[in-house]
Amino acid sequence: MRDKYEAVIGLEIHAQLKTDSKIFCGCSTRFGDEPNSNTCPVCLGLPGALPVMNRRVIEMAARAALALNLNINHESIFSRKNYFYPDLPKGYQISQYDQPFSERGWVEIPTSERNESGHATEWQTKRFGITRLHLEEDAGKSLHEGMPDASKSYVDLNRSGVPLAEIVSEPDFRSSWEAYDYMQYLRRTLLYVGVCDGNMEEGSLRCDANVSVRVRGAEKFGTKVELKNLNSFKFLQKALEYEIDRQIAAVEAGEKIPQETRLWNERESKTYAMRSKEEAHDYRYFPEPDLPPLITAEELIQKLRAELPELPEARRRRFVEEYELSFEDAAQLTDSRGMADYFEEVVRPSGNAKAAANWILNELTRELKSAGIDIAHSPLSALQLAEMIKLIDSGGISGKMAKDVLIRMYQSGRPAEEVVREIGGSQVSDEASIRAFVDQAIQSNPRQLEQYRGGKTGLFGFFVGQVMKLSGGRANPQVVNEVLKNALEG
Ligand code: ADP
Ligand code: ZN
Ligand code: MG
Repeated sequence: MRDKYEAVIGLEIHAQLKTDSKIFCGCSTRFGDEPNSNTCPVCLGLPGALPVMNRRVIEMAARAALALNLNINHESIFSRKNYFYPDLPKGYQISQYDQPFSERGWVEIPTSERNESGHATEWQTKRFGITRLHLEEDAGKSLHEGMPDASKSYVDLNRSGVPLAEIVSEPDFRSSWEAYDYMQYLRRTLLYVGVCDGNMEEGSLRCDANVSVRVRGAEKFGTKVELKNLNSFKFLQKALEYEIDRQIAAVEAGEKIPQETRLWNERESKTYAMRSKEEAHDYRYFPEPDLPPLITAEELIQKLRAELPELPEARRRRFVEEYELSFEDAAQLTDSRGMADYFEEVVRPSGNAKAAANWILNELTRELKSAGIDIAHSPLSALQLAEMIKLIDSGGISGKMAKDVLIRMYQSGRPAEEVVREIGGSQVSDEASIRAFVDQAIQSNPRQLEQYRGGKTGLFGFFVGQVMKLSGGRANPQVVNEVLKNALEG
């Protein structure tokens, strides 16, 4: 039955821009401060107080817009969006309406459905349209105590006036996973260009989803339902999935879908109606008289465009091509800019991308995760990891030993060679013991010995490797070189 229908989804995402001060006043945007401590007449909405545009907001919004291929309007207009709510003391929110900051963008990203166990089934690159990115101020926050029959309510206006970029997508997603992959990509991109901290639990990034269903092949969209406040990726995906099923069942039963706003209830794994279209707000937008049109200079746009970092999807593709990594490894390594940078800092001096990817994605990630440390602050530096990889590649230590070495380097911050020496992994340097390994290596490889003596001197490295293996990675490479040379030539 589900195959007969197709879902249509569009996302409206609010991203707090991580400026130090608010959009129209100098108050701090810091999260978690004493309630109402970061306020002034402007963000308290006191009569007569006038807003002044924060220049840093324009720069951050422009960086986000450019990263999402949006066209930045030379001139954009602020408008008042009127509604009453206790966390909105002015009675209106300064937003943008008919002349937004930027319009007509897109992203081209890999997306896939997932099977029962949550694994991607087939990655395909798809393009999703972005209608607009506009600027607005955040509202304050109401806190209710003793729910459900709230005995007390509090209003905290620290958040009032925190800058927001609202990013509205085209209704281009056809499944919950497409919306999920887009949302993931959007968050990653905002983090890459350094304009949002992406913290969904603290509300720095929030998502409303619009969803309708139609018979596959139909041209007209069905009536859309808005799902509010989906504050995690998991909730977004689950709420959409539930809602698509609910709407299909309703249409099949011959019911009409009312246009309404619904909320996701995680405990019951259900959406339920919050308000209908009739109760929807009429915001009576009009141009904000206290702010002039916002002019975004072409020179600023050019400068910011030139400074844009390589974006996550471009970087993922390059990692696959340049380093011959799998799709999954490249995707994981480009998940954050810090991880991708670290990886490339290991590859450069070690020259071994495969090993770098493996060590980073397995051992290092495990250590960092359990300690809750970001890779940018890894106690094991990229250079140290590169040195360890070189040591393995030159036969200095075995791969098995390397795991132990890595953990010890990570814990002590000491260089690979020092750690190797320390753990009875300490090198064997006396000639007699090494000669025993050398003899054994030569005796067990008569064919290679013949080839070597016939002129294939490139096999020297092969014999070094054999000796290293026999010694459990502990033989002193310098002594091995000397003894081996004599033995092979002799
Ligand atoms: P509204 O005027 O109700 O805010 P918009 O046209 O501005 O509606 O669209 C809001 C969001 O809903 C956008 O992300 C858009 O892509 C999406 N959307 C619009 N129509 C539909 C539909 N029929 N089904 C699903 N999503 C839709
Ligand atoms: Zn203020
Ligand atoms: Mg709209």
